[in-house]
Amino acid sequence: MPCDRSHAEQLNARRLDCEDCQASPDSGDIRTLAIGTSGTTETWHIRECPAYTVQQILGEASAQKVS
Ligand SMILES: [Zn+2]
Repeated sequence: MPCDRSHAEQLNARRLDCEDCQASPDSGDIRTLAIGTSGTTETWHIRECPAYTVQQILGEASAQKVS
């Protein structure tokens, strides 16, 4: 992990439950991070979550993936 910044974001991230799938770290498949003015928010989704699909299309969230 060469990136210290992502580590700090994980520490500071606040969890926000998805209104559609209401996934938790235990039940969710995908974690997304949204960086806002008040800090970083993490939201968990199941793979089939429609809200996650919309986020993917809009590009508003960065899912954990290898790019
Ligand atoms: Zn969701």
